[in-house]
Amino acid sequence: MATIIDGKHYAERLRAEIGRQVVQLREAHLVTPGLAVILVGEDPASQVYVRNKARQAREATMASFEYRLPHGVPQEKLLELIERLNADPAVHGILVQLPLPPQVDAERVINAIRPDKDIDGFHPVNVGSLATGGDGTVPCTPLGCMMLLKHHLGDLSGLRALVLGRSNIVGKPMATLLLRENCTVTIAHSKTVGLDEECRRADILIAAVGRPRMVPGDWIKPGATVIDVGINRIEENGKARLVGDVDFDSAVATAGAITPVPGGVGPMTIACLLLNTLEAACRQHGLPVPA
Ligand code: NDP
Repeated sequence: MATIIDGKHYAERLRAEIGRQVVQLREAHLVTPGLAVILVGEDPASQVYVRNKARQAREATMASFEYRLPHGVPQEKLLELIERLNADPAVHGILVQLPLPPQVDAERVINAIRPDKDIDGFHPVNVGSLATGGDGTVPCTPLGCMMLLKHHLGDLSGLRALVLGRSNIVGKPMATLLLRENCTVTIAHSKTVGLDEECRRADILIAAVGRPRMVPGDWIKPGATVIDVGINRIEENGKARLVGDVDFDSAVATAGAITPVPGGVGPMTIACLLLNTLEAACRQHGLPVPA
């Protein structure tokens, strides 16, 4: 039976540590990290994410600013708000909850955020920095996955990693981080041929597809470490529940270690958002991150 990698527990410890560093920063330098979260529209899942992000920022005693705009908001209004937040010294991190409605060009919005306030790490400057080994902001979900992997495995050098999914927010940055840790990395996607065989070769399998239980246990190399990024809402026996991209019940018999859904990667994403906000605040004030 696989070890269950308890992301919820790890994230709680990380958030407590960040909370302590925030207090230290305030006491030593009178700086309170500020996180601004923008939500456009009423998508229920996005509302939950935004509420959780704001609540956890407050729990870490950061300043939290929430902006809720109607679904039909013109793009220019959103860009004006971002300009205002870019110039606001109390705001160190800006997050625009995705997805955005069709009248808004998400790329234009992301590009409008000041790169040093882009705590999602989606701005091209930060994407380029990650690709070239710079010290820009790393996207929260892959960063959280990497923390769990290193915590569980230690040195990742020489391991074969398969990243299932090639999105800009999860798959691609995840692959880059694994490469940085000297893994031999394969990226798979919807056009990959022989996906099951690719998966069976991997010592580390990251599933970021968005398809409920797509990866069965017999695609997993015995003893492999499996990180399930997927969050899929399904109906089962008349009840709504969340499942990952990996079929947990069969995978747990083959894998060496696995993250559950919920309680795996999800909590780490928000904790890393707080970490990125703390680091952004320190950088903007020319200060080191408190020890
Ligand atoms: P995207 O829809 O942007 O990307 C999905 C990727 O999966 C694409 O690269 C796509 O390939 C690939 N794919 C789709 N179907 C198949 C298939 N049958 N076989 C192989 N590959 C396939 O999703 P995201 O990266 O944004 O999110 C992935 C999952 O992670 C979702 O469930 C999402 O909810 C979850 N998520 C969880 C987070 C967390 O905090 N835990 C944060 C962000 C996302 P192609 O490029 O060829 O179309």
